[in-house]
Amino acid sequence: MKIGAIIVAAGRGQRAGGEIPKQYRHIGKRTVIEHTLAAFLAHTRIDEVLTVINPNDLPHYEAALPDIDHVSGGATRTLSVKAGLDAMESKRVDRVLIHDAARPFVSAQVIDRVINALDEAPGALPVLAMTDALLETQDGCMVKRLNRDRIVAAQTPQGFHMAAISAAYESLKQDDVPDDATVLQEAGGQVVTVSGDPANFKITRPEDFQKAQSMLEKPHSFVIGQGYDVHRLEPAESMWLCGVEIRAGLGLIGHSDADAGLHALTDAILGAAGHGDIGQHFPPSDPQWAGASSDRFLLHAISLLNEAGGVLVNVDVTLICERPKVGPYRDAMKTRLAELTGLPLARVNIKATTTEKLGFTGRGEGLAAQAIVSARMNDVPL
Ligand code: MG
Repeated sequence: MKIGAIIVAAGRGQRAGGEIPKQYRHIGKRTVIEHTLAAFLAHTRIDEVLTVINPNDLPHYEAALPDIDHVSGGATRTLSVKAGLDAMESKRVDRVLIHDAARPFVSAQVIDRVINALDEAPGALPVLAMTDALLETQDGCMVKRLNRDRIVAAQTPQGFHMAAISAAYESLKQDDVPDDATVLQEAGGQVVTVSGDPANFKITRPEDFQKAQSMLEKPHSFVIGQGYDVHRLEPAESMWLCGVEIRAGLGLIGHSDADAGLHALTDAILGAAGHGDIGQHFPPSDPQWAGASSDRFLLHAISLLNEAGGVLVNVDVTLICERPKVGPYRDAMKTRLAELTGLPLARVNIKATTTEKLGFTGRGEGLAAQAIVSARMNDVPL
């Protein structure tokens, strides 16, 4: 299942004021669009991310996000989304999320809820229940009170089966439909709703920048987790270590692929999430994990952390062995862990050490790995 995300950033956002379009203004140290992109780039279930920009904004975009794929949008949001879908077509995704660049505080949990809902329907979007009473007015006078129970506020990302939303846009006659869920629904596709998040608001008016700034300054807590794992070493063609294949005449023995680096890291993340250990989630007695690639253990731990309201901040892995030599593989391991965790390279560290020929690692009987991670939790400090 391949999932893509299209970030729509071509609008002019005139209601927000300011010298430059709102998506390129700063909240804290990063521009609005950088905050937004970071949420999708860090999400482990999303494989492809591209943005739709206004060609006039290219200098702003390249200053903020030189490495992220982009296409030029059209005169309306509808035309911009069409351009994004056309570009996403070649990436062969099964599901696509379409998100407004001006919603920088989208959480991993909201993204997950939308993705999960696409197992039931071709379209899904996050919504918020209304708390205030809703009135219909005309010329400053109340006309009637509306039934609040059936009215919700729509947010993004809106998620779709790629084939369904492409076909719906293909057959669309107008080019000014307000949102993508409407396009699918009017084409006859079912759109289900999931819980949105009040923090996932859209920066629309000048005062929203103040609100966004205070969101960044909102208190939060950090948690850490640590993990440790050992596997036996035996002569073999190759081994997997930190998600990288090492061909050095040595193998690691275990039920899964025995990647001690990924197992220690998985346990560290489970520790931060408060979710026990890898053996509880993936029992070695269960035949379905025989020979399994440990990538999936790591991704599962990250999704549990995300569900608990946490976002990884950094990971640090120490490999303890005499052989294989880790140095030649260190960069490849860092790159692989950055891919798997969604972290930037600077937040991933791999260390290697020996035990001076002492103990089981010193005698070359086994390889040990330790990991420590930190995560930012979206709650208030205890
Ligand atoms: Mg293990």
